[in-house]
Amino acid sequence: MKTIGLIGGMSWESTITYYEILNKEIAKALGGFHSAKIMMYNVDFAELEANMSSGNWDGNARILSDAAKRLEGAGADFIVIATNTMHKLVPQIEKEIHIPILHIADATANSIKRDNIKKVALLGTKFTMTQDFIKDRLTAAGLEVMMPDAQDIELVNDVIFNELCLGKILDASRKEYQRIIAEMKKRGAEGVILGCTEIGMLISAKDSVLPTYDTTIIHATEAAKMALE
Ligand code: GLU
Repeated sequence: MKTIGLIGGMSWESTITYYEILNKEIAKALGGFHSAKIMMYNVDFAELEANMSSGNWDGNARILSDAAKRLEGAGADFIVIATNTMHKLVPQIEKEIHIPILHIADATANSIKRDNIKKVALLGTKFTMTQDFIKDRLTAAGLEVMMPDAQDIELVNDVIFNELCLGKILDASRKEYQRIIAEMKKRGAEGVILGCTEIGMLISAKDSVLPTYDTTIIHATEAAKMALE
């Protein structure tokens, strides 16, 4: 079995889910007492959040490249970055290491295509929804990607940073997300990507009128598979 180099803490709330799924998937595949070989570097999210707010992406690239290098040096076979937003920095991080990074958008695109869905809504942080680092990868895989309108982009982003990343799960926010998903369905979306690793804490398949693609579940499940290849 390969050793997974997990960069977590963004936020730690969703890293718990990664840890659980990785172990459960390995146990399911191998049975008995088997569990995942994981080396984890948990960042201090306050540093990364401050850098995001001030636009200091190079600062975040340095923190995450340093984490990836340490994991590589300690013997990890591949890297899993447990957040969508920080995939913006994958090109910079990749330059610093010699082991592969399992990209969250590739794993997600494969999962959506298996269901023959073409038009998907993307919910995530403002960075993920308004910039190209996730969207372009999905589009390159043949998907058509739709975003909420400008006001709802702000709302979805605020719920992530002011509530979910702090472990706050509010019914009122769930209702707002449900309204946004229903609107995206009206606009023609056939599925919705929960493109922030904390959204699964608020919205699960039963809460959504569209089929959900939870990037945390998809990414962690794919990482377990990769560990067994
Ligand atoms: N975990 C979130 C994501 O998947 C947001 C936190 C972050 O900016 O890393 O994008």
